[in-house]
Amino acid sequence: MRPLKHGSVELVLGNIVDQDTDAIVNAANTSLAGGGGVDGAIHRAAGPTLKQLCLKLPEDERGRRCQTGHVQVTAAGNLPAKFVIHAVGPFYNERYAKKCHAQLRQVHTLALQAAVQHGCGSVAFPAISTGAYRFPIVDAARIAVDVVASFLQTPPAISLVRFVLFKQRQYDVFAEALEDWSPAG
Ligand code: ADP
Repeated sequence: MRPLKHGSVELVLGNIVDQDTDAIVNAANTSLAGGGGVDGAIHRAAGPTLKQLCLKLPEDERGRRCQTGHVQVTAAGNLPAKFVIHAVGPFYNERYAKKCHAQLRQVHTLALQAAVQHGCGSVAFPAISTGAYRFPIVDAARIAVDVVASFLQTPPAISLVRFVLFKQRQYDVFAEALEDWSPAG
C-alpha cells in the first residue's frame, strides 16, 4: 500500500472478479463482446447481463463499441463491484512503441476519470495489455503505476486504486515500479 495525497495505491496477487471495489476495470477488446483472459473471466463471473449491457452500446461500421485507448462503463451484473470500466489497451507493436505507450497511458487516465464520474471511491485494475496484447510487463507496470500515482497526487480523490496481479512475476514487477515511483517522474 502506498499512500498518496488523494488516495492510496495497493497491489494484490489475485483475481479481478473477486474484488469488492466500486469498479473493476476490464482489459477488453474493441467489440466489447467478450474475449479471453481477464475479459472472459469477468464475463463468466458477471453472468449474461454484462454481455447484454455491452451489446447495447452503439457500434461503428467495423463492429467497434470502444476504440483503442478508450473506455466504456456498464453495470457489473453478478460481480461484487458496482461498475465495470471496459478499457481497450493497445496491442503492442514495437515499431509503434511510442504510440502504444501513449495509448496505455490514456486508457488508464480515462478509466480513472470514468471512476470519478461514476462516484467510485475505489477501483481495481488488471495489468491491461500485458497478456494477449503482449505489452512488455516492465514498461506496462511503469506506465500504469505512473498514471495512477500521479492521478492520486491531485484532486479529485479516489480513496483506493488496487492493481490485481494474476501472477507472482507480475506482482513483483508492479511492486518494483511502485517502490521506484516518485512525483518528479
Ligand atoms: P490483454 O488483451 O489486454 O493483454 P489479457 O486478459 O490477455 O488482456 O491479459 C491482461 C492481464 O490480465 C495479463 O497479465 C493476465 O495475466 C491477467 N489476467 C488474466 N486473468 C485475470 C484475472 N482473472 N484477474 C486478474 N488478472 C488476470
